[in-house]
Parts: sequence; C-alpha cells; structure tokens
Amino acid sequence: MDMKVKQKKLNKKEKYTVQTRDLGWEPTYQSKDKIFPYVEYEGIKIHDWDKWEDPFRLSMDSYWKYQAEKERKYYAILDSFAQTNGHLNLTSARYLSAIKIFQQAITPGEYAAHKGFARAGREFPGAGTQVACQMQSIDEIRHAQTQVHGVSNYNKYYNGFHDFTQQRDRIWYTSLARSFFDDATSAGPFEFMIAIGFSFEYVLTNLLFVPFMSGAAYNGDIASVTFGFSAQSDEARHMTLGLECIKFMLEQDPDNLPIVQGWIDKWFWRGIRLLSLVGSMMDYMLPKKVMSWKEAWQIYGVENGGALFNDLARYGIRPPKGWEDADKAMDHVSHQLMLGLHQWNFGTSFHTDVPTEEEMDWLSAKYPDTFDKYYRPRWNFMKEQAEKGKPFKNMGLPKLCQVCQSPGLYTEPDDPTMLCHRETVFENEKYQFCSDHCMDIFNNEPEKYVQAYLPMNQLFQAPLYGDLNAWMDWVSLRDGVDNGDYELSEDKKNFDKWRNDVKSNSVD
Ligand code: FE
Ligand code: ZN
Repeated sequence: MDMKVKQKKLNKKEKYTVQTRDLGWEPTYQSKDKIFPYVEYEGIKIHDWDKWEDPFRLSMDSYWKYQAEKERKYYAILDSFAQTNGHLNLTSARYLSAIKIFQQAITPGEYAAHKGFARAGREFPGAGTQVACQMQSIDEIRHAQTQVHGVSNYNKYYNGFHDFTQQRDRIWYTSLARSFFDDATSAGPFEFMIAIGFSFEYVLTNLLFVPFMSGAAYNGDIASVTFGFSAQSDEARHMTLGLECIKFMLEQDPDNLPIVQGWIDKWFWRGIRLLSLVGSMMDYMLPKKVMSWKEAWQIYGVENGGALFNDLARYGIRPPKGWEDADKAMDHVSHQLMLGLHQWNFGTSFHTDVPTEEEMDWLSAKYPDTFDKYYRPRWNFMKEQAEKGKPFKNMGLPKLCQVCQSPGLYTEPDDPTMLCHRETVFENEKYQFCSDHCMDIFNNEPEKYVQAYLPMNQLFQAPLYGDLNAWMDWVSLRDGVDNGDYELSEDKKNFDKWRNDVKSNSVD
C-alpha cells in the first residue's frame, strides 16, 4: 500500500528559486552564442549571470495576486467615477489637454516598453533577469491598458482623444516620446535596460507620476490619479530593477564602466528633453497648480537624482554630462515649449490658451528670475494680438532635432535670448540639433539616427505635398474641433453647459 506523502510547503525563497532559477537549463544541441546573439555586441562583459539578484524576488503566483488586487480596486473606482459623471468635477475641461498629451505620447510609450521588455527577457541569458523582464513586460502592457480605459470615459464627452495610436506616429509633439522609445527599443538589451530601467523609470517616472498625478488629484481627475497610483507601485519595482542592472554591469567587469557612463549621459539627456512636455503640462495646463516644474525638478531631479549619483560614485559613475545644462534650462523649458505649442496650436490635438493674469502672477512667483523678463511680454503680445482678432499663429515649420525631435525652440544654456542650434554633416547630408548633447548622441551613432523618422518632414512629401488640410486628415485632426484655443472650443462650451445643467433647471 502506498503511503501518503505530505507535500512539504515551500517557503518564499524556495518558491522563488523553483519558479525562476529552476526554469533555466543548459542547452545541449545549440551553442549559447547562437541562442543569445545580442548579448555581446554592445561590448558589455558578463562573467557570471547567477550573480544577478532580482531585488524583489517576487514569485509568479504572488505577482498575479498583487496585480489582480490592484486591478480590482482600479476598475471599481473607474466605474464609480463614470457612473457619477466624475468628469463634471474637473476644475475645468481645459485640464484635459494634459491628459490628451499623456494619452497620445506617454501611453503608447508604455506599450513600447512592454514590447521592449519582452524582447530583453528573451535576449538576456540569466533566468533571474528573464523573469524580472517578463514581469515588467506584463506591467507595462497593463499600464497602457489601464490608461486607455481611464481616458475612455473622457473620450465620450470631449474632443481630441479619438485617434491617439495614429497621432503617436504622425503628429509632431508626440514624436518626443515616440523617438525616445524607438531609440530604446532598437538598442541592444543592456542599453535598453538603461534607457527604460534607469532613464525612464528612475529619473523620469518619479517626475511624471508623483507630482503630475498630484496635479490630477488637485484638478478632480480621479480616473488618472487611480491609474497613476496603480502604476506607481510597479514603478518602484522597475526602478530597482534598472538600478540593479546598472550595478550588475559595473560589478561584472571594469571595462563596462565607460560604456555604462556613455549610456547614462545619453539617456539622461533624452529623458530630460522628453520631460519638457511634462513641464509645460504642469506649469500651464493644470488650471489648479500643484508645484512648478522647476520645484518638481528640485525635489525629484536634484535631490533624488543627486542621491542616486552619490550611491553610484563608488563604482566610478559621475553625474550625467548634460546635468548642468538641464539644471540651467529648468528656468526656461516649460515656457519655451508652451509658447511653441500655443503658436502652433492649429496642429495640436488638444487646446491651449494664453495664461490668465492670475496664472501669470503664479508663474512669475515661481520663476522670479525669468518669467517677467522673458516670457510674460511674449504672452502679453499674444494676448493683445488675440484681442485684436489677429491671434498669433506661426505658419512656419520648425526644424526638428534629429535626435530628440523637439522643434528648434530651446535657447543656449547661457543665453535665453539666443535659439540653440547645432548642425553636422554626415555623408553629404546636413542634420540639425537642439543642443550639444543631442548632437553628441548623433555623432556617436550617426548610422542609427540618419534613419530617424521625423513626422514634420512628411508634410512636404507624397501624398501631402505641403497641404495643411491634407496633413490634418492624415494625422486625424478635426480642424476647429480638436485643435485651437480652449476659450473658443466645443470642449469649453459643452463643459460649461453641462456644469450649469447640474445646478439649474433651464430647458433648451
Ligand atoms: Fe509603465
Ligand atoms: Zn535634441
């Protein structure tokens, strides 16, 4: 007779080992070089993959349990927000411009990150690394999905949300984010980890999710706050993974240091350029403001980033090369970019406005050295022009930086009255840049960046041939509906009316 064997219950650590390390095996009929062809071509030397420690040691079953719990909470809140017409509790529908940009630029980035981590998980040989990448890949697709679901409620009532997937590729301001992710997902697996795990997660999502999500809370956007917090608890895991990956590379071989430093320099700058979009969202698009972009940078960039680089100093890592220029630019970027977005707002799938007097006073208090001197006069000019019935629109096309793809609107680090413009020739073609740092990134890998897809240039090519209306169709922009000034928009008209309907009994 068989004796019943009582299954020994595994403790957490044993369970983790069984579900990760035990899944790896030694190949017998193919060489490792053939199975993992990309792991060496970046020049990173790894001697022992087993030294990779995933910081969270999360087993798959507890991972699903945590995530399912978050999903349940998120969708319960989302449902009640939709059922109670939560959108009418927004401070103003003007606020939604920030969410439109978020959906058009950042949400597709989450999706790209999901694809990138699925690939990185396949390309890295270590089982611990593979499992960590797989979990992050699932996290990222969840972020994309929850964000799309979060805004689907706004899409029923407001314009500009209808075609974010097309706009991600075709419209101009989204290419700041799109080109960042194109660059990251076409890099080797180690560089990808620095791009997303370090630059996007560590440096940027702190700035994006924490202060920006409090902005959402201040403005009554419970849908976004809830997805923000639901994502943020994953981000903590992602940041640790990114940092672990950096330390792993640095500990494995001293030859890895200059390569890693080069990537940190590059991806810090790419990240900071992308973030200027969030700067304009925070300083200008939130009707009720939380903190200025410069203050957010001070806390999440200078203080947290500074602590990170102190920690990495023992490996020989120094702060990124563009750090000082980024710091100087904090007094300017959100204003410069917003002035750009406003004067080209016939080509944006969101609304913009000249800030109110009250907002300008806030901006001048937050930017005492620069706002009144350089930016208030320009806003005042735009306001006067609009009042005369001749709103200032810039029908000229800006040059786009070949690397970060921002329009040429940023100024020299030490002269805010001089546009910053750099140029290089590669194989008889001229290329333009927004800064020394973007030019350096190009010069380091020109063969890669000559292939960059610049959306603005499409306007002059077949089938558009410079026709602005054809371009609007091509980017799914409904002229007079999705674009232009908020004051004149259908979004404003509807929002004011619906809000009024809540409080009155008027019939119309
Ligand atoms: Fe994410
Ligand atoms: Zn650039």
